Amino acid sequence: PKDAGLQAGTLISGTPKVAPGETMIAIDAISKWYGEFQVLTNCTTQVAKGEVVVVCGPSGSGKSTLIKCVNALEPFQKGQITVAGTKVMDKSTNLPKLRSRVGMVFQHFELFPHLTITENLTIAQRKVLKRSAEDAKKRGLDLLARVGLGAHAHKYPGQLSGGQQQRVAIARALAMNPVVMLFDEPTSALDPEMVGEVLDVMVELAKEGMTMMVVTHEMGFARKVADRVIFMDRGEIVEDATKEEFFGSPRSERAQTFLSKIL
Ligand code: ADP
Ligand code: MG
Repeated sequence: PKDAGLQAGTLISGTPKVAPGETMIAIDAISKWYGEFQVLTNCTTQVAKGEVVVVCGPSGSGKSTLIKCVNALEPFQKGQITVAGTKVMDKSTNLPKLRSRVGMVFQHFELFPHLTITENLTIAQRKVLKRSAEDAKKRGLDLLARVGLGAHAHKYPGQLSGGQQQRVAIARALAMNPVVMLFDEPTSALDPEMVGEVLDVMVELAKEGMTMMVVTHEMGFARKVADRVIFMDRGEIVEDATKEEFFGSPRSERAQTFLSKIL
């Protein structure tokens, strides 16, 4: 029993309930500078509970910066972002607590290389959420089984393939019972044959109603599960459309050019 693939069952049991239709992420007129360089210009969008929003656009357009602002990994100088009612840049905001509710999966898997898969899955549950070792292990191993990797709990990240490590990274984020999941090009560092197994987990998450912001160029994923597509260029949100509108007839020439290159 090596890699069982995605198992049936819920990935998001135990996630705090919020009212349907509630705005989970409100990005309100964000501008950000790196020194003199303006990286984001007046970006505004909202993500409702259960919505899946794909963010695309050319390299350097500010996609990573925008989603890092959502969990305050990057500060911004103007505007406001609210996640599940918490203003991310407020001085009174408890950042570790906020980040524990906002799951983040990056391009590079960023598992702790010196910890086993089980330890990777449990450390933040124990340190941040103060769960007991037993509870954290139960939650972590349950999610590991759900992403098809139950047989690998004792291994170290380096013993797994890139696709497997990325599935562990998703399970690790989900173990914290996040209300929102952010993905930054989660499949772009993977060998092509491993992309599908990671997208399968993300599709399942979307189907279960997780609120997701996903930076990706996987337009097949966008067509399948996105509710909306945001197109960024040079630090601006140039389009924010339903996927039907976006793929049917993008309004801007910049989005049309981008799509003609990647489709
Ligand atoms: P994307 O994810 O769309 O490729 P990024 O958000 O990574 O874009 O970067 C947007 C722009 O900001 C790029 O021009 C990049 O060079 C610049 N940038 C990113 N991080 C930094 C930083 N820490 N300091 C200065 N410039 C940065
Ligand atoms: Mg990026």
